[in-house]
Amino acid sequence: MSEYVFNYYKSFKCIANKCKHSCCEKWQITIDKKSIKKYKKVKGDFKSALNSAIDFKTRSFNLLNGKCPFLNKDNLCELIISLGEDSLCSTCAIHPRFKNFFRGRVETGLGISCEEACRIILTQKEKQVLIKTDNKKDKLSKFDSEVLLYREEILNCIDLNKSVNENLNQILNKVNFNGKINYKKIADFLTKLERLDNNWEEKIKLLENEPTKKNEEYNLPFNQLLSYFVYRHISCAIDRVDLKTKTIFSVISTLIIKRICDNLNNNEGLKSVLETARAFSAEIEYSDVNLIEFYKFIERLVNLGE
Ligand code: SF4
Repeated sequence: MSEYVFNYYKSFKCIANKCKHSCCEKWQITIDKKSIKKYKKVKGDFKSALNSAIDFKTRSFNLLNGKCPFLNKDNLCELIISLGEDSLCSTCAIHPRFKNFFRGRVETGLGISCEEACRIILTQKEKQVLIKTDNKKDKLSKFDSEVLLYREEILNCIDLNKSVNENLNQILNKVNFNGKINYKKIADFLTKLERLDNNWEEKIKLLENEPTKKNEEYNLPFNQLLSYFVYRHISCAIDRVDLKTKTIFSVISTLIIKRICDNLNNNEGLKSVLETARAFSAEIEYSDVNLIEFYKFIERLVNLGE
């Protein structure tokens, strides 16, 4: 299996207690079987802490006031402090990394639901590119080769020096999508989804307003955002029709985030762009249920050409 990482990957370091939206809050954290076995073998003082913190039936941590019970008052992980970094279950050890799997090739990137990863990716000046980390040859299936070629063609439509609207239109033309983007319908749909944070509701409502500003100075972060969605979501397409769905998903996700930012009534500039992108990712990309529903919603748009 040949391995690739994105050029931003090495810049990442968890900001731990400086993080405002810690990944140790609000989500259900599932523990892999190997870690459960390891935790059951722990002896000494930490044993009872583990026993009360873990629901061994559902293989997850019992959240306390919505937080992982091992997140201490300084927002640091007590598991790492007491048992070392190797004691983390695979969910915690992997986050915020994501992997694109192909037959014979794997790509590792960072998910923007993590505020630090989001900052690194969206403020990067250079194009996002993949770097090979070994000398192995890609042994791809015919469809996987098609996906990579198609993804490259879509990425070639994104010029970081152009406005994000120009790049988005270029992509829509390339995939022959003439449907009208109805923000009221999108807002109604998003309102019905499972919610992680109630502040997201306020942001969804903004979609229905006509934009009050254009945020043209933030074309770079919006173009990086679009590239991130293309890299991540086109890669999991299952057939040719799905390639188009995942492309429209990338375009509409970028448009949603941009329209919310264009309607935000604050002076926080880039900070608002990063926070809106992070919130979208946490609410949609990082909820399996919401992501599937959103893919289905886009599929209907593509089929109806609405
Ligand atoms: S969200 Fe990112 S920066 Fe924050 S605690 Fe998790 S990994 Fe660290």
